[in-house]
Amino acid sequence: MHSPAPRQPTLPYKCGHCGAAYPETSLPWCCARCGGLYRRWADNVRLAGSGTARGLAQWAEWLGVRADTLDRISLGEGGTPLVWTRTGWGGEVALKVEGLNPTGSFKDRGAAVLVGAAVERGIRTVVEDSSGNAGAALAAYAARGGVRAHLFVPEMASGSKVFQIGLHGADVTRVPGSRAAATEAARTEVDRGAVYASHAHQPFQIAGYATIAFELADQLGGLPGTVVAPAGQGGLLLGLWDGFRALASGRGREAGPRLVGVQAARCATLARAAGVAVPEDGGGPTCAEGIRVDRPVRGAELLDLVHHGNLEFAIATEREIREGREELARRGFGVELSSAVIWAAVGRGLASGQWRPPVVGVLTAHALKTPTA
Ligand SMILES: [Zn+2]
Repeated sequence: MHSPAPRQPTLPYKCGHCGAAYPETSLPWCCARCGGLYRRWADNVRLAGSGTARGLAQWAEWLGVRADTLDRISLGEGGTPLVWTRTGWGGEVALKVEGLNPTGSFKDRGAAVLVGAAVERGIRTVVEDSSGNAGAALAAYAARGGVRAHLFVPEMASGSKVFQIGLHGADVTRVPGSRAAATEAARTEVDRGAVYASHAHQPFQIAGYATIAFELADQLGGLPGTVVAPAGQGGLLLGLWDGFRALASGRGREAGPRLVGVQAARCATLARAAGVAVPEDGGGPTCAEGIRVDRPVRGAELLDLVHHGNLEFAIATEREIREGREELARRGFGVELSSAVIWAAVGRGLASGQWRPPVVGVLTAHALKTPTA
């Protein structure tokens, strides 16, 4: 048995709307007082200093989960390689290969922190609506942590990610209708008292993505000049921003990197709202299924970052997404289509001569996630 270690008096999360503190003993997905989304707040805790801790546990205090819990939950997530490749656009890009995480995507970082928070609170069952990488990650880490995960997925969902969810022993309920119907079904359970381990809403999950920023600073020996990443629900970009902000505040006047979020032209609500000219790109849904999100949960927060000059958006057409995946594959990087959206944006950015080096692209998930796409 573990004896409970003393924990910090205040968690580093609060409601982004009314400022209510995140509770220590439950795992709400939104603010009980006003319904707002929880966010990290000012960097009140030290970024490092856990001595010999490795993996995500070295940032335990910043993440708001104890190091021994993170160690116990860990499947070896994080510590992914940063690999340089030359481009045809007059510059090099460093690729953060997140497909090498335990379940094949960056979502493992967030799931490790979120399940850690659940375990510390004695939570035995969680629900979530994802038939994608987030669902696969939650299923694996829930299995590791002895938490029962109940995933609501669209009836027609199939492929490697749903296979992973079932493989790790999560309960799967197939919901007829659209993706929204699966969310509705999960929310009904939440209304009945279930704990909603929503990857888009839970602040612990988003904090986990900040560890990408921490690792980049180590791997580059300083902050990157520009970081490009796909935009789905918005959690990855928000986590990166939080991480770089924490790093920059610890380094005096060193500026954080230019952050670039990339959406598919067929699903570009945030890019449009940010003033990007989005071309007509045929009909139907985008092939980049992981970022096929019409109303991103964290969209308002991302647009707030845009408004303050901390984030910009770019788009990729269907053709550019497929060509991007082929181009990356020819260089040895196997990624799913949702990851490949960044390649065209990297090309335009480097060709513009406006991007400050070093330029980093986040390759969010492994090619085997969508082998037949
Ligand atoms: Zn609130």
